[in-house]
Amino acid sequence: HRHLGHATSERVAATLATGELHPEPIDWSRLVDYRAAGGHALLADCRAGRVSVEALMHEMEEAGLRGLGGAGFPTFRKWHFVRAEPGPRYCVINADEGEPGTFKDRYYLEREPHRFLEGALVSAWAVEAEALYIYLRDEYPGLHRVLREAIGELETAGLIAPGYVVLRRGAGAYICGEESALIESLEGKPGKPRHRPPFVAQKGLFDRPTLVNNVETVYWIPLIHTRGAEWFASQGRHGRKGLRSFSVSGRVRYPGVHLAPAGITLRELVDEYCGGMAEGHGLLGYLPGGASGGILPASKADIPLDFDTLQEHGCFIGSAAVIVLSDQDDLRGVATSLLAFFADESCGQCTPCRVGSEKMLALLEREEWDAAALTRLSQVMMDASICGLGQAAPNPVLGLLKDFRPELANQNLIIRG
Ligand code: SF4
Repeated sequence: HRHLGHATSERVAATLATGELHPEPIDWSRLVDYRAAGGHALLADCRAGRVSVEALMHEMEEAGLRGLGGAGFPTFRKWHFVRAEPGPRYCVINADEGEPGTFKDRYYLEREPHRFLEGALVSAWAVEAEALYIYLRDEYPGLHRVLREAIGELETAGLIAPGYVVLRRGAGAYICGEESALIESLEGKPGKPRHRPPFVAQKGLFDRPTLVNNVETVYWIPLIHTRGAEWFASQGRHGRKGLRSFSVSGRVRYPGVHLAPAGITLRELVDEYCGGMAEGHGLLGYLPGGASGGILPASKADIPLDFDTLQEHGCFIGSAAVIVLSDQDDLRGVATSLLAFFADESCGQCTPCRVGSEKMLALLEREEWDAAALTRLSQVMMDASICGLGQAAPNPVLGLLKDFRPELANQNLIIRG
């Protein structure tokens, strides 16, 4: 497995040295290079009928490819649901990488936009989409240029009809990473999540059946086809299948994007891929899935980081944004900054989330924590919020109350109840 973190760290250092907020993207692989290396073979085979949709879906099923944006839904099944709906259909790529601590999609888009675009076009082909929309995070302006140019290359080469791929910018709202809010935003409306059902696979963009895939999910499709489903599936560890791109930040020696087996444990990830903990720091706990995936203590550093195992511990791996905390980190500060983030990013549509996140922040800022009040409020938010933002916002607080009592006491935080 490649260690991907170092290049990222070098870029960060270069960015800091020059003071540029948005440096020009590094040299990216152009269409001519991508094709010379065998790229676009899959798309050509699909379009020429040499690969059938059924065969490709079977291949993705065998590989164990799941949605890598956060939900982990099997990719082939999503395609199947959208295909079952009457056309016209659309395909949308969620490139609104906004989960705090997540930067893997950016990593791949910056380097290999054409592999991503081929995977996206194959997905669009699989559901016979009328058009392919890419919704790109507004904080990635350098990437906007890369994708614009890469799409232009495809048009010039005659690989897509002009206008088939539509590149849209987000406007800085975290909630637009939620697929139904993203679709609202694409339609030109405020990004507010929709009630479900109907699901976007049935009634998505412009009320048509819509396939929404994450950047990294489609990025893997051409490679899985070339190297074989068995190759991808065999990369897992502890009985899990596939590879995961972990965005690791926090108190490790080498933060960055680390491509590692699915199912790896936090301790293995830190020791084998991140060069261990940063000098002078001891592991206190970690957030396995960014701001919304909850928090786990050091005593749970040996459980597989995967979709199913973490759910048993009340956490989510989400987009695999692993934030490592050390004994020098202030747990109250962690909790308040996460809740401040959710309160700020709540779309305000429903009361449990809009009012609940602010109330929870106020409770966390009190000198003493009232565990009963925090737990009651968490339950209301989880039960009654419309979307994942409000439902997941209490996760870090519940994790701290459940697993970090001695550590909180060590940091002189008094908890009642
Ligand atoms: Fe909006 Fe929060 Fe309700 Fe989601 S849970 S719809 S973000 S107010």
